[in-house]
Amino acid sequence: MMGSMSSCPFCLIAAGSIDADIVYSDDQVVAFRDINPQAPVHVLVIPREHHANVAELARADSEQLAALLAAAAQVAESEQLAAGYRVVINTGGDGGQTVDHVHAHVLGGRHLTWPPG
Ligand code: 5GP
Ligand code: ZN
Repeated sequence: MMGSMSSCPFCLIAAGSIDADIVYSDDQVVAFRDINPQAPVHVLVIPREHHANVAELARADSEQLAALLAAAAQVAESEQLAAGYRVVINTGGDGGQTVDHVHAHVLGGRHLTWPPG
């Protein structure tokens, strides 16, 4: 599914219909602070177009996938995460995905342990 879905919270954030603390935005992607942060810096980066998960985005539009990761790197720089950070794309139920609009978490500002739970 591409385009915009009125039932999708991240489509609504991209459209400006739901408030979010936006830290970066361009014609392809929007980045905003997670409502339930898991680290001092926790930003979500989404494509403006609705794609359910990273596999669907990769199949549909590799340019947008590259834009998503470039924006994640841009956010890490503007959030001053030179000491290190993590980009996470949870996918599917076992992957912990709870919002079915692909999003990259940018986490940083503390030492992150490995492996994740
Ligand atoms: P997932 O579990 O799908 O990888 O991540 C979804 C993330 O979206 C969660 O970390 C959750 O806190 C965040 N989230 C869900 N709804 C909203 C919202 O309306 N606004 C913001 N800023 N974050 C949200
Ligand atoms: Zn959506």
